[in-house]
Amino acid sequence: MTADQVMPHLEALQRIADRDGGNRAHGTVGYRDSVAYVKAALDKAGFRTSLHRFTHDGAPGYNLVADWPGGDPRHIVFAGAHLDSVPDGPGINDNGSGSAALLATALQVAKANLKPQRHLRFAWWGAEESGMVGSSAYVRDLSPAERARIDVYLNVDMAGTKNIRNWLVVDDDPAAYAAFEGYFTARNLPTFAIGIGGSDHVSFGDAGIPVGGFATGLDECTHVACDRVENIDPQTETVSTNAFISTVWQLAASH
Ligand code: ZN
Repeated sequence: MTADQVMPHLEALQRIADRDGGNRAHGTVGYRDSVAYVKAALDKAGFRTSLHRFTHDGAPGYNLVADWPGGDPRHIVFAGAHLDSVPDGPGINDNGSGSAALLATALQVAKANLKPQRHLRFAWWGAEESGMVGSSAYVRDLSPAERARIDVYLNVDMAGTKNIRNWLVVDDDPAAYAAFEGYFTARNLPTFAIGIGGSDHVSFGDAGIPVGGFATGLDECTHVACDRVENIDPQTETVSTNAFISTVWQLAASH
């Protein structure tokens, strides 16, 4: 995967924010158009997509869920990222970058016509900047049996931070941690282990589901208007995307 396979998604999210009032926050046209952009790409690639609806602050909220047909439905590898921004900016690193890395991963699954052992599900969360509202609504709406089928949840929240110090790798599910950590250290890239907290995976962790994932860390434009596509380091974004692809491939193949 090269930069030209992931950066166009970030440029598209920037254009959406530019034409929709400067942000992609919960309850806005910018968020609605962000969902439509990702959903159209997934539908075209052969995913089964659906919208999970919830209400927050008097406005309808949406999580976009995409299943790749095939794999054992009793053993799900679930990957997610939040798609909403704060109202104060376009949210391209936080978290257009994770959303784009996740979309590029899903499209790579389709391109390879992957036949995973475990079932692959992807989700883009809404209203997370309001306090993990979308992901917690999704987990709450799952039956205990449905929760039990999720073997692991992988998250990416900020994937293209400039002047990155280290990849912050969530140390919870051992196989996910080993896969991400192994990817970065094999390339002499600096990592730092972190616990569950601060992002979408908390909703899954709180439900007792093993979690993994990583972040590239905050930057000076986090949650403000300058979090534009120029706030992304394309090389970091590309490395992050490839780390996600590598880990999804590994976990999908094991059983
Ligand atoms: Zn975020």
